[in-house]
Amino acid sequence: MNFCPQCGEQISKKTIDGVDRYVCEQSQCHYINWDNPVPVVAAIVKYNNKILLAQNAAWPDGRYSFVSGYLESREQPDIAVLREVKEELGLDAQIDKFVGHFIFNKKNQLLIVFSVMATGSVRLNNELEAFKLFDEQEILEYMFSYPEFAQSVIKKYLTV
Ligand SMILES: [Zn+2]
Repeated sequence: MNFCPQCGEQISKKTIDGVDRYVCEQSQCHYINWDNPVPVVAAIVKYNNKILLAQNAAWPDGRYSFVSGYLESREQPDIAVLREVKEELGLDAQIDKFVGHFIFNKKNQLLIVFSVMATGSVRLNNELEAFKLFDEQEILEYMFSYPEFAQSVIKKYLTV
């Protein structure tokens, strides 16, 4: 970040309460970038008695993860997650359970995770390259890109 998104002037770095922040020092502005986490909805998709993981088109082969996406403006998370499943997989889904909120430090995101029951036939949109079905044991052993984080989500899912 070089310029203030509020007034367009040069922005500087300043330590506030022990944390480095981007701060605008224009007297009329005083913008501070608090770097708040971005909410993201994610779905553990239950499909044909298995769990469906998808491979993003931008990822290397064999890398699967949950279906996820950003909330639209004013959209409820449980609606957003079903919309993402429909858009990305072409499946109709219903909320099964709310799994939990998870802080994903790596990307400064707050993941709002649901499990959903999905039906229909899979039609991947252009964001996705492939999908794969896992049973519970397989998914517990699956090597995710961020294994510790993903396993904490899966373990929570298995207990709620
Ligand atoms: Zn400013």
